[in-house]
Amino acid sequence: MPDKESTKSGEDLASAASAPVASIAPVASAPTAPILVSTTATAVCPQCHLPVLPEYYFCPNCGTNLRLPPLRTTIGAQVMIYLFSAALPWIAYLAITKWPGPRYMRSEDPRARAIGWVALGILVISSIVAIWLTTVWINQQISSALNDVGNIGNFGSGL
Ligand SMILES: [Zn+2]
Repeated sequence: MPDKESTKSGEDLASAASAPVASIAPVASAPTAPILVSTTATAVCPQCHLPVLPEYYFCPNCGTNLRLPPLRTTIGAQVMIYLFSAALPWIAYLAITKWPGPRYMRSEDPRARAIGWVALGILVISSIVAIWLTTVWINQQISSALNDVGNIGNFGSGL
């Protein structure tokens, strides 16, 4: 009985060791490998199609802004951004009105009321953190937009 099991597992190990080698070989020689390298490792200027480094803000050849991809202005793109803009406040409204905190705070059970007030505290703290992170994000967007324009001002010099 133990002999059968050992030989069976030995065969499995042998087939498992040989299988990856056989599958890797055709992938490595496939013609897709150089195409992947040319599109991911080095970016290409959308205007003059010369290779540029991913960290460049502007194309050194023609001066095209590489950080702002051309925004899609198709009807489909407009419908998406308008629907998203219209829905965003209602997502917050639905989330807040579904919040079960008030039902706990109005409860006869003092334990449930305590849970409701703790939940309210967490909601307030979480809201403050979310608003703060949104403010930081908006400031980063504004400063990066100013850098793209070329107006690199040192706003932190007074601090
Ligand atoms: Zn260029």
